[in-house]
Amino acid sequence: MVNAPVTVRFRFHGALADFLPRARRGTEFGAACARDATVKHMVEALGVPHTEVGQLLLNGAPGSLGALLRDGDRVDVHPASSLAAGAACAPGGRPRFVADAHLGGLARLLRMAGYDTLYDNGYRDEDIARIAHEEERVLLTRDRELLKRRSVDCGCYLRATVPERQLRELFARLNLAPRMRPFSLCLHCNAPLRPVPKDAVLARLPPRVAEAHDAFTTCDACRRVYWAGSHHARMCVLLAELADVALAPAAVEWAPARAPSASDPQQSSQR
Ligand SMILES: [Zn+2]
Repeated sequence: MVNAPVTVRFRFHGALADFLPRARRGTEFGAACARDATVKHMVEALGVPHTEVGQLLLNGAPGSLGALLRDGDRVDVHPASSLAAGAACAPGGRPRFVADAHLGGLARLLRMAGYDTLYDNGYRDEDIARIAHEEERVLLTRDRELLKRRSVDCGCYLRATVPERQLRELFARLNLAPRMRPFSLCLHCNAPLRPVPKDAVLARLPPRVAEAHDAFTTCDACRRVYWAGSHHARMCVLLAELADVALAPAAVEWAPARAPSASDPQQSSQR
């Protein structure tokens, strides 16, 4: 701060310590603030995106990110709790997501779990922030600066770097397990899947698949056909772990997970 006439003491609790330099973790520290800086401004200047903030205490009483800071104030910042974050991100419904260009693997896993997730590796930061705001989607990223944008109402910073771990992290933070609808969305284009009779897709199936499977779904947007192949079984294990219960056999039967297209059956070897 160029003009820093006031000093405010901060303490960041729980997982928010991850955003701080080591010397500021788990302890109260003083920081110089511009007069009339908001809590949001200072919390973000110290490294914590506003989307990660849950309960906030200003001099021991409930405060808000928009509050103005005065000399000698004390600010306690707690992380967004799973229930509060879930409710804030999806008032009255299921959260929908937009993932940044580095989170393609996570986007596919979220679609697999039935969560509407926009993703395009051509998205620029401003596109992602705009989509999140206009469509009331939860912005997913590992880029703190993206989450600090004023227009971003709801977002989640992913700490994990591997897609399956990112999915676990997000499920825990937003309590997603009870509301998942496995294998209901196209992994490729996020459109709803619908059950389709075998006869209707027979010509598009590799012969071995046609012999071994009778239940199929299809995406009307890209015309991919899905069935319960080996990839599907692996994904069921992951989803069952997340749900902490085995998926009902009926859900497995109607919800094939492979994504080959008629023109490119080799796709079945990809994740
Ligand atoms: Zn599709």
